[in-house]
Amino acid sequence: MKFAGNVAFISGASKGIGAQIAKQLAKKGIIVLANYSSSDEAANKLQQEIRRDGGECELFKFDVSDFEASKEAIDSIIKQYKKIDYLINNAGITQDNLLMKMSEEEFDKVLNVNLKGAFNIAKHASRWMIKNKFGVIINMSSVIGLMGNAGQSNYAASKAALIGFTKSLAKELGSRNIRVNAVAPGFIETDMTEKLNIIQKKTLVNSVALKRLGTVEDVANLVEFLLSEEASYITGEVINISGGLYI
Ligand code: NAP
Repeated sequence: MKFAGNVAFISGASKGIGAQIAKQLAKKGIIVLANYSSSDEAANKLQQEIRRDGGECELFKFDVSDFEASKEAIDSIIKQYKKIDYLINNAGITQDNLLMKMSEEEFDKVLNVNLKGAFNIAKHASRWMIKNKFGVIINMSSVIGLMGNAGQSNYAASKAALIGFTKSLAKELGSRNIRVNAVAPGFIETDMTEKLNIIQKKTLVNSVALKRLGTVEDVANLVEFLLSEEASYITGEVINISGGLYI
C-alpha cells in the first residue's frame, strides 16, 4: 500500500473510532490531521501516542458544524501541507429522545454536527482534491441510518442523509479521481455506546449475528482498506460493519 507521506484529515479524532483510525493511519506513515471540538486531554494523549511511535499528528480544535471555522482549518492545512489526500468525516454525536419529547435544539444539533459537519469539510477539502486530481473521502454513517431506531429519529435522519450525500459526491467527483464511500457501523464499543446500561447491551448483543459488539479496530481496518489502492474501484458504496446486526 502506497500510503506514506499522504495527508489525512480525520474529524472527531480525539476518541473512539476516529482516534483508532488516526493511530492506524499514522503507523502507515500517513500525516494525520486530527480534529476534535472539546476533549483536549484525549486529543493531546492521542498526539503524544502517535508521536511516541514515530508518527506525525497535528491537532485541529474546532466545531465541524461551523462553516467558517471549517474553511479556516482547511485553508491553513493547504498552506502548510499543500494537499489533503484522505478525508474521513467521522465526527458524530447522539442526542436521543422520542419524537414527542425531542426538542428542536436536539434535532438541529445532531443534524448540524453529523450531516452539515461532513458537508462543511468536504466542500472545502474537495476543492483541493480536485486540483490535485486525487482524493478519497469516507463518511461515517451508521446502520441506524438504514434500519431506523426508536428514540433516534434525529441521528437516523442524519446518518441516512449522509448516504445520499456520499452517493451524490461519488457521482460528482468520480471523474476527478476522487472516491467517496460511506461506512455504516453497527454497535461499536466507544464512549457513544458506553451510555447503554448492561441490560440494553445484552439485548443488543443478542441481536448481533456474531454475538459481540464491534471494536474500534474492526472499523479502522475497513477504513484503511477503503483508503488503499486495493479499493481503487470502489466508490459510492455503503459498507456495513455490524457483525450481522443489519443483514
Ligand atoms: P465518540 O467516542 O463519542 O467520539 C466522537 C468524536 O467526535 C470525538 O472525538 C468528539 O470530540 C468528536 N466530536 C463531537 N462533536 C464534534 C464537533 N462538533 N466537531 C468536531 N468533533 C466533534 O464516538 P464514536 O463512537 O467513536 O463515533 C464516531 C463516529 O462513528 C460517529 O459519527 C458515530 O455516529 C459513528 N458510529 C458509531 C457507532 C458506535 O457504536 N460507536 C455506530 C455507528 C456509527 P470532542 O469530544 O472533542 O468533541
